[in-house]
Amino acid sequence: MKSLAPCWLDRPHTVVTRCMLVFSVFCSLVLSVETALASDSLQVSSDSDNIAIAPFVTLLKQNDAVTDPASAQGALNRGLIAQSGFTDLVKTTKSNETQWLAFRVSFEDDALRHRSWVLSTQDVMHLTRIILHVPVVVEGQADYRALEDTLHGPVASTQGTTMSNFLIPEDIDTGRPLWLEVSGKLPLGATLLWQSAHASAQQTSVRVALISLLVGSVLGLIGYNLVLYFFLRDKAYLLYVAYATGMVLWLSQVLGYMLFLNKPFGLAYYSLVTPNLSAGLANMAGALFTFVFLRLHLQNQWQGRMVLVVSGSNLLLGVASYGVSDELTFVLLHQLQYVLAGLAALIVVVPTIQLAVKGYRFALPFVLAWGSLGVGIILLSLGFQPRILGVEFPKGMNVLIAMAIEMVLMSYALGLRFQSIRKENHKLDKLSKTDALTGLYNQRYYHDRLNEVVIQPLDDEEVWACAILDVDHFKAFNDQHGHLTGDRVLAQLGRIIQHNIRDRDRDQGFRIGGEEFSLLLKVRSLEEATGIVERVCAHFSRVEVHNEQGQPLRCSLSAGITLLKSADEKDTLIHRADQALYRAKSQGRDRVVVDAELV
Ligand code: GH3
Ligand code: MG
Ligand code: MG
Repeated sequence: MKSLAPCWLDRPHTVVTRCMLVFSVFCSLVLSVETALASDSLQVSSDSDNIAIAPFVTLLKQNDAVTDPASAQGALNRGLIAQSGFTDLVKTTKSNETQWLAFRVSFEDDALRHRSWVLSTQDVMHLTRIILHVPVVVEGQADYRALEDTLHGPVASTQGTTMSNFLIPEDIDTGRPLWLEVSGKLPLGATLLWQSAHASAQQTSVRVALISLLVGSVLGLIGYNLVLYFFLRDKAYLLYVAYATGMVLWLSQVLGYMLFLNKPFGLAYYSLVTPNLSAGLANMAGALFTFVFLRLHLQNQWQGRMVLVVSGSNLLLGVASYGVSDELTFVLLHQLQYVLAGLAALIVVVPTIQLAVKGYRFALPFVLAWGSLGVGIILLSLGFQPRILGVEFPKGMNVLIAMAIEMVLMSYALGLRFQSIRKENHKLDKLSKTDALTGLYNQRYYHDRLNEVVIQPLDDEEVWACAILDVDHFKAFNDQHGHLTGDRVLAQLGRIIQHNIRDRDRDQGFRIGGEEFSLLLKVRSLEEATGIVERVCAHFSRVEVHNEQGQPLRCSLSAGITLLKSADEKDTLIHRADQALYRAKSQGRDRVVVDAELV
C-alpha cells in the first residue's frame, strides 16, 4: 500500500475536504450554468410578490378519445373521465400515457391579473411531455392556446423536463379551466406551484444552486473515492462508489435532479437504467460496503449471508424489472424493493449500533449516516415540505439533503480508517526498527541504514562518521552483579546515547549486539564526531547504576571511530571502526580511538 500511495494520501481528511469542495464547486457550476442557459427564455416581470398558490386541480384518467382541451372538456361533461378530486400533484405513469388535468385560476384582485404568472412543476424530470393549454378569447371566440415550457423549449418535445415553467398570458379567460397535458415515464407525482414569474425565477435559481451543490458534493465524493480505490486497491472504496452511484441514479430518476443526464439521453436513459435497477444496486452495494468496512461478518456469519441474500434479491428484482412491461407489476416490484432495502438495512444497522455502543469509533459515522438518511426518508413520507432561504423545495429534497450528509459521513469513516491503518503501519514500522531494552534502533535497521548511508551523497562539507562502542568488562560485571543489573546498565546507556546525540536527521544510535552499540553521525569534521562520542563515554562513566543491594556501580566504554570514504561499502566501514575499537580495548579500555588511517 505504501509504495503505491502518493504523498498527498498522507492526510486524507484534508484531501477529502478539499477534493469535495473543488468537485462540488465544479459540478455545481456546470449544473447551474446549464440550467441558467436553459432558462434564457424565462421572462421576468418587475413583479416582486412571492406568493405560491396551489392550484385547484382536477385529475382526469387516461382516455383515448381525449386529444385536446375541447375533447377533454367534452369527455368530462359526458362523465367519460373520472374526477379524482383535489390535488396539487401531477401523477404520471410509467407507460408514458397522457394525462389531462383541469384546474381553474381566479384573481382575487384584478390588479393581480396584469402580472406574469407561472405554473411551475418544480422537479419533474420524469415528465416526458408537459403542455399547458390556456383558455383565451380570440376575436370573440373561446379558444385554447398551447404554451411552451419556457425552460425547456418546444412543448411537443420528448425531452425530459425539470422545473418546467409556463408563463401565463395576461389575456387568460379565467371563466374556463386551464388544461395540463402531461405524460411521464415513471409512476410518480410532482407538485404544481402557481406563482408570480418573478418569484418563480428567484426561487428556481436558489433551488438549482442548492440541489446542484448537494448532487455536486456527492459526485465529488464518488470521483475522489474512485481515485483512492485505484491507489489503495481496498474494495471498501469501490463499494462506497457503487453505493453512492446507485443512490444518485435512483434519486435522479425518482426526483428528477440530473438534468445533464436526462437532456442528452432523454428517454433512453430511463430505458437503460430503471429506478428499480439503481435501487437494487444501491441496496446491495450499501449493505456490502457496511459489512466489509465494519467487518460485521467476523461478528456474526449468518447476518452476512442474510444481507447478501436480501440485498442480492433486491438487485435481482431490479434486473428482472427490465422484463416487466406491465406497469402495476413494475411498481409492485419497486415497492417490494423498498421492503427488501429496509430489511437489509435492519440486519446491518443492529450490529452497527452495537459496535458503536461498544465504542468502536468507525461505527459511529455509520450510525449517524443512516440516522440522517432515515430522518430524510421519514420526513419525505410524512410529506414534510422543506423551506430553505424562504424557498419551498420539492419534498424529495428531504432525501437529497439526507443523502449528501450520509455520503459525507461515510467518506469521513473511510478517511478515519485510512488514517488509522497508516498509524498502525507507522507503529509497526517503528517497532520493527527498535531495540526493546534500550529504545535505540536495532541491528536490522543498522544494516539497512548503513546500506543507505554508503550510497547517499552528502554536501561537500559533510561526511558520515561511524563509531562502535562496547561496554568494558561487561562479562565480569554481569557475573558479579547479575544479568538484571547488567540490563539496567544497557538501558541507561541507551538513554545516555539518546540524550547526547543530535536530531535524528543527523545522528542515529543503534544497539548492534549484546553490549555493543554504534553511532552514525553526519559531521563536518572528525573532531566533531570524536567530541560527540567522547561526550557519550564520559557521561556513561559518570552515571551510577545500583545493584540489588543498592550499591552504586559504574562502567566504562571503549569506542572506535572512522569516517566514511567514497570507496567504502558497509563491511569495510564497520571493519575500520571495529579495528579502532579493538585498539581502544588493547590500549587499556575506557577511551575513544580514531581509525589509524585518519591520523
Ligand atoms: P571487553 O571489555 O573486552 O568488551 O569485555 P566484555 O566482558 O565486555 O566482553 P565479552 O564479549 O567477553 O562479553 C560480553 C558480555 O556482555 C557477555 C554477556 O554477559 C554480556 N551481555 C551481552 N548481552 C547482554 C544483555 O543483553 N544483557 C546483559 N545483562 N548482559 C549482556
Ligand atoms: Mg565488552
Ligand atoms: Mg563486546
